[in-house]
Amino acid sequence: MDNQANQEMSTKKPIKKGNKVVIIGDSFVGKTSIINCLITGNISETKPTIGSQHHNYNFKNDENKEINLDIWDTAGQERFRSVIPMYYKGAKAIIVVFDITNKDTFEGAKKWIEEIEQNNKNSLIFLVANKIDIISQRAISEEQIKDYSRQKKIEYLESSAKENLNVENIFQIVGNKIPTNLDNTINDANNHNKNLNDINEANQNKNYCC
Ligand code: GDP
Ligand code: MG
Repeated sequence: MDNQANQEMSTKKPIKKGNKVVIIGDSFVGKTSIINCLITGNISETKPTIGSQHHNYNFKNDENKEINLDIWDTAGQERFRSVIPMYYKGAKAIIVVFDITNKDTFEGAKKWIEEIEQNNKNSLIFLVANKIDIISQRAISEEQIKDYSRQKKIEYLESSAKENLNVENIFQIVGNKIPTNLDNTINDANNHNKNLNDINEANQNKNYCC
């Protein structure tokens, strides 16, 4: 790169860019409801729609830094499994949701996680059990889930979109765990490479809760 180009790059205004977070999991586990709950504070009956939808969520992280999450809902597309890797390309975090009352969706979540591990090693993965308001209908033991998340070194969290339990907290945990200098600005190639290194490093140091 010549000097002039170099100078232009360093003086270029940083581009504001949201931190991409993707929510996936089998149909009807409550992905859209979780996002609706986060954005509006309640859930309405949701219909599977074709095409992803984006939502912005801003909050101040533990270091009082403004974090902007660009949350992608794969609404309906999860039925066409092969297109999903396209959605989570470039995601800094992927939230894999299952329904605590439906064992198949836990098996589904494991499959989603395997696929992510094959296709996208750069994203932090979080496992979320939804519908804990109907815990009396629990189909998967806590031990089973914790064993799995421990083995995979993935953080495990629980939510109820219906009762608005832990939903905001989950996104704040995700926002806090995204590598910190992977904030909203990318202004040159060097920065970009640095960010990718940070993601890799963060992945090696993934936390899990139990
Ligand atoms: P998606 O296909 O994963 O996006 O799932 P939806 O958000 O469309 O939800 C599927 C169904 O589960 C809907 O009837 C929701 O009302 C219901 N649902 C979603 N979250 C919860 C929850 O936390 N508790 C209960 N009891 N029902 C929920
Ligand atoms: Mg949906």
